Amino acid sequence: MSEVAAKSAPTPGEGAEVREFPTLVNGEWLHGVSKPFDNINPADTSDIVGRFQASTAAEAGLAVAAASAAFERWKKTSVSARAAILNRAADHLEANADRNAREMTREMGKALNLAKDEILRSAQTLRFYAVEGQSLTGEVFPNDDPDMTVYTLREPLGVVTVITPWNFPISIPARKIAPALMTGNTVVFKPSSDAPLSGYRLVEALVAGGLPKGVLNFITGAAGEVGAAITQAPAVRAISFTGSTAAGEHICRSVGFTTRTQMELGGKNPLIVMDDADLDKAVDLTIKGGLSLAGQACTGTSRVLVMRQVRAEFTEKLVERIKALKIGSGLTAGMDMGPLATARQLETVLRYVAIGKQEATHLYGGERLTGAGYDGGYYVAPAVFTDVTQQMAVAREEIFGPVLAIIEVESYADAIAKANDTEYGLSAAIATRNPRVMHDFANDIQSGTVKINRTTTGNLINAPFGGVKRSSTSTFRESGRAGLEFYTQIKTVYRGC
Ligand code: NAD
Repeated sequence: MSEVAAKSAPTPGEGAEVREFPTLVNGEWLHGVSKPFDNINPADTSDIVGRFQASTAAEAGLAVAAASAAFERWKKTSVSARAAILNRAADHLEANADRNAREMTREMGKALNLAKDEILRSAQTLRFYAVEGQSLTGEVFPNDDPDMTVYTLREPLGVVTVITPWNFPISIPARKIAPALMTGNTVVFKPSSDAPLSGYRLVEALVAGGLPKGVLNFITGAAGEVGAAITQAPAVRAISFTGSTAAGEHICRSVGFTTRTQMELGGKNPLIVMDDADLDKAVDLTIKGGLSLAGQACTGTSRVLVMRQVRAEFTEKLVERIKALKIGSGLTAGMDMGPLATARQLETVLRYVAIGKQEATHLYGGERLTGAGYDGGYYVAPAVFTDVTQQMAVAREEIFGPVLAIIEVESYADAIAKANDTEYGLSAAIATRNPRVMHDFANDIQSGTVKINRTTTGNLINAPFGGVKRSSTSTFRESGRAGLEFYTQIKTVYRGC
């Protein structure tokens, strides 16, 4: 059984008076206009991290109107002025990184060091777009008329809605909002109600950086109440959404064809372990990729396709390592895995563990953890299933939790066929020493992100990110230079003398 962690003592202010956080509409911080809801610590549900506004559809409509009114002026603001605001916001995030990291750990459970890394990475994202956004250009086209110049301009779209999940509660908003603002769009941002505080801190940093009123508006509350108002309003020209495939599909179907969409959705990410792989390293990749965020990364490893010759040895090593993992509050140093983020997540994981026990061979874990340090939190032991076949739910459906499905494969071709036999295509990895297999894998796998001897998780801020099949809309990539293109449209100019 995994080692029990002591509950970490709260820092001053934590567990004391619960602060109510406002929305931001047209530059005004709005307190108490709506009924508040609680942001709860999944490691200790008696700890209320903050209270947030359950905005109404009417309030969300005001946010869209404010963004619309601010657009023409912001569009004409110089790129260097926009860049300076992003850089000052990055300074603000860095200066408050320790406080913000504790808050993130308290609101969604990830380890404190990962939370701090995410905040610093978000500051880096703002700085990246402050530079990269200044050199986004159009093209000039040769033509036969010596008196004519033909070129393209890249223009902002207008009001952009940004909707984000709870698992990377500041880095996902940052990688959407920074390129949107840098290219001259105005934004309505709605974070997940399960982790709104980190998103609030990003908004606070951008306001402190000097963002004019109305350029960024922050709405919190239930998707059922505000969702339509911020996605279907005619002024909304684009939606950048990260979340479940079901919600992304629903939004895509509900908006008009002139609304540009960028949907980053679910995954069922495979790691293939070839018979020539370094098995200790493959175990490490499985644990880091599959369990480090308690399996709650969109790119997390959930299927492990292992060659028959090494399956027994790999599985034995994996279970041995998993048994030694330390599970506890992300605020306690040295924990390998924190709690699940919400009661809903806990319920889903326990349901899939029960299904897995019916359909596959259950090797380890999957039970809710109780006792000192665990009571009052959403903790489960990581689960491992083997003898998993393609038609089983644990092989097909996104669980989004610490549940690993081991699937035996006979050959590289068998591994690729099984890895590709899924409706998703976000990230995929292989562990091998064979350069030919590395080369073929990059070509054969149906996935937006390909990792060779690396975890399925993790991506650079300066490289494109996104999936294929039902993991993303096949429109624009996020991150890097590609992240800027989504937020601009091309105008072609024919200029004669
Ligand atoms: P979710 O779909 O429940 O919610 C995501 C966000 O969408 C939340 O802010 C939610 O309030 C909002 N939302 C839901 N329905 C909406 C609607 N009809 N209109 C407007 N807004 C709506 O997802 P979640 O539980 O927060 O996150 C987990 C999911 O996110 C997993 O499926 C995971 O794979 C996915 N994810 C994908 C990526 C990626 O980059 N591909 C990254 C992280 C998470």
